[in-house]
Amino acid sequence: DRVLIGNKVSEGHVNFTIAYNMLTGIRVAVSRCSGIMKPLTPRDFRQTKKLAFDFHRNELTPSSQYAFKFKDYCPEVFRELRALFGLDPADYLMSLTSKYILSELNSPGKSGSFFYFSRDYKYIIKTIHHAEHLHLRRTLKEYYTHIKENPNTLISQFYGLHRVKMPISFKSKIKHRKIYFLVMNNLFPPHLEIHTTFDLKGSTWGRYTKVNDSEPTDAGDAHRPVLKDLNWLQEQRAIRFGPLKKKKFLQQLEKDVDLLARLNIMDYSLLLGIHDMEKGNDLIDEQNILAKFSPDQNELQEVKRKSMAEQQMRHKSALAVQHFFQQDEGGIRASDAFNNDLDTIYYVGIIDCLTNYSCLKKLETFWRGLSHDLKVISAVPPRDYGDRFYDFMEASVNRVPQKRYKDDPDAKE
Ligand code: ATP
Ligand code: CA
Ligand code: CA
Repeated sequence: DRVLIGNKVSEGHVNFTIAYNMLTGIRVAVSRCSGIMKPLTPRDFRQTKKLAFDFHRNELTPSSQYAFKFKDYCPEVFRELRALFGLDPADYLMSLTSKYILSELNSPGKSGSFFYFSRDYKYIIKTIHHAEHLHLRRTLKEYYTHIKENPNTLISQFYGLHRVKMPISFKSKIKHRKIYFLVMNNLFPPHLEIHTTFDLKGSTWGRYTKVNDSEPTDAGDAHRPVLKDLNWLQEQRAIRFGPLKKKKFLQQLEKDVDLLARLNIMDYSLLLGIHDMEKGNDLIDEQNILAKFSPDQNELQEVKRKSMAEQQMRHKSALAVQHFFQQDEGGIRASDAFNNDLDTIYYVGIIDCLTNYSCLKKLETFWRGLSHDLKVISAVPPRDYGDRFYDFMEASVNRVPQKRYKDDPDAKE
């Protein structure tokens, strides 16, 4: 498992056609969806829209480099969700479609999903399984209601659910492949370096990432490993929040976990990125990271300038609703027992939350349950999964940290 830093997907890349089609579809579908917003009806939660692209333009779609079909799920619902998340429609389109180049994650997860970043690093496109897409459609109403009632939710922000259907040649036969994908927020900022990343489930089964000590981790390499629960426990890490932030965090976490349990979801993680303000932004490193998805130095400057301008805008606009956990440079500062800010910024959210218990996990519970304590394995019923997840995070915010880690704020007190 690696931190998400991708390889550029440009013409000639194996997945270029897929990426091109995904972006072309989004561009046309999203720009179509621009009338006056009406209150959502139950129908909007079932609606789908289809578009067919061809080399030649037709009355409905512009011409495209490839022939493919595009399906947009519940466009009005996602449009409203994007508004709730404070996205500007024009910006959204720009980020996803300004140029047909994305970057792809080097090593996709075990699930076989692929991840793509938008060029400005703000959005992630994740390909998902048919079952995951079905589950999201079935529970979209509950998700939507939760977002409305919980502006500070830690659960992933979903901006669009789509499908492309395209011909793939396989053993000299043409097959039509359906690819489902989701657009969501990148939890990590484009302009700050994440020094340490943890993916936490509250389970210990197989939850260890071997770290190669001889390899310097701050050498500016983009291949810093994503650490897991056992690393977290072994290093006696803690989430450092003073009473105010701790209370907010646990209250929100409880509500979010409750929703996921009600929706029968499990196997999600708390993704935690740690930025050490004293280590700061090794410029070389930053350039390395950004250069991966945008090799052009002018564009690099542009991205930086834009994100600075955005930060300033956010500060200025008193009206803009600020997400509690994104208030400091898109994340949230650690704080001490007196609620004073510490020099660490956390980027935190709940990710990978579309796995329905009834899919694969029943089987896993069965075979793993035979030989191992249910408490340590990762596949347990959704309610138990949620309780264990919550308990782990609660213990992590309450733990008195060890003064051992450079990126741990306590080391500096
Ligand atoms: P698996 O099911 O094997 O866990 P997956 O393919 O479903 O894998 P995820 O768990 O969603 O993949 O994500 C894998 C990794 O990608 C995470 O550990 C994290 O490092 C990164 N990642 C996923 N979503 C985001 C996000 N929204 N923002 C930033 N990084 C992310
Ligand atoms: Ca996962
Ligand atoms: Ca998954």
